[in-house]
Amino acid sequence: MGINLFVPKFRTQEILKEIEVCLEKGWTGLGFKTVEFEEKWKEYSGLPCAHFLSSNTAGLHLALNILREERGWKEADEVITTPLTFVSTNHAILYERLTPVFADVDDYLCLDPRSVESRITPRTRAVMFVGMGGNAGQLEAVIGLCRERGLALILDAAHMAGTRLVGEHVGRHVDAAVFSFQAVKNLPTGDSGMICFADPARDRLARKKSWLGISKDTYERFATPDATYRWRYDVESVGFKYHGNSLMAAVALAQLKYLEEDNTRRRELSSLYDSLLPQVPAVTPVRTAPRCVSSRHLYQVCVPRRDDVVEFLHRRGISPGVHYVDNTTYPMYRSGDGTCPVARRKSDTLLSLPLHLNLSDGDARTVVEVLAEAVRALPA
Ligand SMILES: *Cc1c(COP(=O)(O)O)cnc(C)c1O
Repeated sequence: MGINLFVPKFRTQEILKEIEVCLEKGWTGLGFKTVEFEEKWKEYSGLPCAHFLSSNTAGLHLALNILREERGWKEADEVITTPLTFVSTNHAILYERLTPVFADVDDYLCLDPRSVESRITPRTRAVMFVGMGGNAGQLEAVIGLCRERGLALILDAAHMAGTRLVGEHVGRHVDAAVFSFQAVKNLPTGDSGMICFADPARDRLARKKSWLGISKDTYERFATPDATYRWRYDVESVGFKYHGNSLMAAVALAQLKYLEEDNTRRRELSSLYDSLLPQVPAVTPVRTAPRCVSSRHLYQVCVPRRDDVVEFLHRRGISPGVHYVDNTTYPMYRSGDGTCPVARRKSDTLLSLPLHLNLSDGDARTVVEVLAEAVRALPA
């Protein structure tokens, strides 16, 4: 049995009970459990709005689509973004025919506010900030900068379910925060996500747009007192099929009850790694920003000759991860090639150590021991 990077934990019996309710009621689509989960998420996070979607990728696109239409952004207007992310963040910019402009990252692997500032031009409209591994990095400084310069700010909070910054859940001081409940995230479902706009009018619009631009969702129509007109609706814009469904929401409802407990365990394991790694030469952990309590989706370190280290770990049954390859090395994003030296340098050394709820303290110790061996085995 090897030690894997991610092993999602599902509370099977509780999930099956929630799903059974949907099946018995005959309601698996939009509404019902999706509404229940949205309410629970707002209660949990303290965020004013939450709309359940089929994925975080859909949410990032929807956020940019709504902001672009509202503010009249033109084709090729610029969005400042990070090269160190899952491609969803940057694809969302291209979906709206906007231009990604890459800024460099800091030691937290998040956007460096000074680099962001240096990339602002008269065509800059928005910033996409990724909370890497649950870390908020210098998000507060980026929020300040965006306010000062009149830029929209979208938080890709795919890793941040449960992250606090200065004591509150992230998402309050940005235009939109988008969470992911994809299969291996901190709150795993199968595939789903949540878009949390600060502005309720945008939230209402997101609800229409995620259901093809239709004015009333099927659940609302079902609740219309005059049954004769239940079939009637209007189409106000060309929307998308991005809403989440009740089966995924049922999974999420059962899983949400354990998110705090799970994240606490992730932080415990991370502290254990923190305490053991100083004994391993040449391995530098990525620190969590001050004032941030991270969800600890990832535990990342920088190591020399990363690919050799990965190979060594694999031979010993340990599967680490890499988050992420610098996006400007992909043909889609070549425009940014060479513009973010810190991201490029870090990307070549990054390693994510196994971190999940089935990992024992002993497993974490084994990972560190084997990592130490791997580093010792490197040619001088
Ligand atoms: C997983 C992930 C996404 C995409 O989330 P989905 O819910 O799978 O669409 C976006 N950004 C980052 C940083 C991610 O890790």
